[in-house]
Amino acid sequence: MPKMTTAGAVAAGVVAAGAGARLAAAGRKRRRHESETEAAYRTAAHRVLILGGGFGGLATALELDRRIGGRADTSVLVVDRDNNLLFTPLLWTVADGRAGANNVTVPIRAFQRDRSFHVLHAEVHSIDLDRREVHTSAGSRPYDVLIIALGSVTAVPDLPGLRERALQFATPSDAIELRNHLIDAIEAAHQTDNPAERQEWLTFVVGGGGDTGIELAATIHQYIFQGLLAEYPWLSDAPVRVIVVGRANRLVPMSNVHTSSAVERLLREDGVEVLTGASIDSVTDRAVMTSRGEIPARTLFWAAGISAPPVVRDLPVEHARNGAIVVDSNLRVPDHPEVYVVGDSAWAFDADTGEPVPPTAQAAGHAG
Ligand SMILES: Cc1cc2nc3c(=O)[nH]c(=O)nc-3n(C[C@H](O)[C@H](O)[C@H](O)COP(=O)(O)OP(=O)(O)OC[C@H]3O[C@@H](n4cnc5c(N)ncnc54)[C@H](O)[C@@H]3O)c2cc1C
Repeated sequence: MPKMTTAGAVAAGVVAAGAGARLAAAGRKRRRHESETEAAYRTAAHRVLILGGGFGGLATALELDRRIGGRADTSVLVVDRDNNLLFTPLLWTVADGRAGANNVTVPIRAFQRDRSFHVLHAEVHSIDLDRREVHTSAGSRPYDVLIIALGSVTAVPDLPGLRERALQFATPSDAIELRNHLIDAIEAAHQTDNPAERQEWLTFVVGGGGDTGIELAATIHQYIFQGLLAEYPWLSDAPVRVIVVGRANRLVPMSNVHTSSAVERLLREDGVEVLTGASIDSVTDRAVMTSRGEIPARTLFWAAGISAPPVVRDLPVEHARNGAIVVDSNLRVPDHPEVYVVGDSAWAFDADTGEPVPPTAQAAGHAG
């Protein structure tokens, strides 16, 4: 059974508890949050604009508040199109029905209590690095210092049938859709007399052998055999297949080989099939075509990689292959010392190992 990962627990600590605990430990007096007008932001001597109120953006805002929160000449503004922080490490609990969407989201406004940073609920449309200005659905905002923390999106390549048919797993509504889809598939299998069709409904392919892919496979397997079994007892003897297809030669390739083999062993012990060193080439409504053959299946979940969101990709700076912005050892954009990037939008390197920093909540929180 998947459990909350250490990474998830650490991430929770970084954002949710971190600054509050330090504030209490330092014995600082609690401040009432006071809203700021747009004019007050514009005329502040130091305007710090944080794009994105996820793990990296909020950790940055909390840390800035701890260090310079009392300064009257400085305004810190966080811009996000949602007003919730999505706690992705627990998204699978929404998929398997043990939690609701509200249990894995925290209002961004809740983080403002006793703190002096401000929040603008708006979509970021574009960033003008030369004019030092950001265009949003609520108008433009100038900045003196910019922190880009806009996260990432699931990268779905333009392969035949993929974008139309693959289901994703990145938001609470994806998680609810996943659960509904599993129920529909089991119902369809229950009703058909055609053995081939039944097998297709009972086969669930997950594209992507990284963290999210293996989490998805484990969640699907668990939901079917623990959540749905009571309502559909015939499932215990049914030929249910959950298959993870990964392009790399091992699962979770950004981890070390020992972790990869432990993950593979645990999944196989649970009954999840693992196909590594294989690519998905196309998908129809009845089959997933891989470089190692066709898998008759009516369901494909896609979790094979992330890319930077369009606003980030569009910036005229150096990008990594996935669109993340290449930053220096201080997380700054070369030639733009007033611009920092944290979290999944940044392509940074670990100072000790020289390896790229993985796109995780804990890394984003740490960067912030
Ligand atoms: C299913 C799943 C499970 C995961 N599990 C784990 C785990 O167990 N442990 C772990 O460490 N990591 C996990 N991760 C990865 C983790 O969620 C990310 O690495 C982390 O969220 C990155 O933080 P961030 O601040 O860069 O981006 P985010 O936390 O995604 O924040 C980005 C923010 O920017 C906002 N935004 C984006 N574009 C715009 C725009 N144009 N205008 C306005 N606002 C915008 C978004 O609304 C969001 O609030 C998981 C990810 C997924 C999808």
